[in-house]
Amino acid sequence: MTTLFISDLHIDANSPEITQQFVDLLDGEARHADALYILGDLFESWVGDDGVDSHQRMAIAALKSLADHGVPCFVMHGNRDFLLGDRFFAMSGARLLPDPVIVTLYGERVLVMHGDALCTDDRPYQRLRATVRDIEWQRQFLALSLSARRSLAGAARVGSRAHTAALEYTIADVNSESVEMALRKAGTATLLHGHTHRPAIHPLHVDDRPCTRIVLGDWHARGCVLRWNVAGPELAFLPRATGATR
Ligand code: MN
Repeated sequence: MTTLFISDLHIDANSPEITQQFVDLLDGEARHADALYILGDLFESWVGDDGVDSHQRMAIAALKSLADHGVPCFVMHGNRDFLLGDRFFAMSGARLLPDPVIVTLYGERVLVMHGDALCTDDRPYQRLRATVRDIEWQRQFLALSLSARRSLAGAARVGSRAHTAALEYTIADVNSESVEMALRKAGTATLLHGHTHRPAIHPLHVDDRPCTRIVLGDWHARGCVLRWNVAGPELAFLPRATGATR
């Protein structure tokens, strides 16, 4: 049996092929999985559980169907969908996964994160993260009208794109000291995260201890899934059917 990990799908009405590939994965391979873990940014944007659009509804229905089929589904907040709330989890049948969290997979303890908290070279982003993860800020934001929240989220995405485009490549990646600190604190040999859209399996050393950092890929041009079974982890790409691509 296999446990599946995905992240950074950024499901959005403008990319129907991503929604379709997600639904296909959940209706297919995931039916036979031990569990499905979504490590953040399932959605491009989430302005509150009362603002669900048609693509988000399709994704929620696919999760609910998989959960009802008996496959445990876990969803972690990403930097795009950190407002996924109680109603989302009730609708989808998924369970909220804290960030960070240690997951035990076939006997191995693995530190699991979205990954944005590791990008500590990007100071302005870390300040923004601290603000929007504040309960009081979230309460005030969610008290705004849906249209006000949608326009603020749109402006934030434009700002985020401009900020990311201006960043040096290394600054937008994880900070190696933050990675080492996280592994040291967790006491695990493996860290698994998404967010950076740079899928890879990196060997590293923490205090002379051999460790591994596994990075999931985004779903922009194709799907990406990490399959983990008794033999260990395998990072795979899911080609998108021609005709489904834009
Ligand atoms: Mn992210």
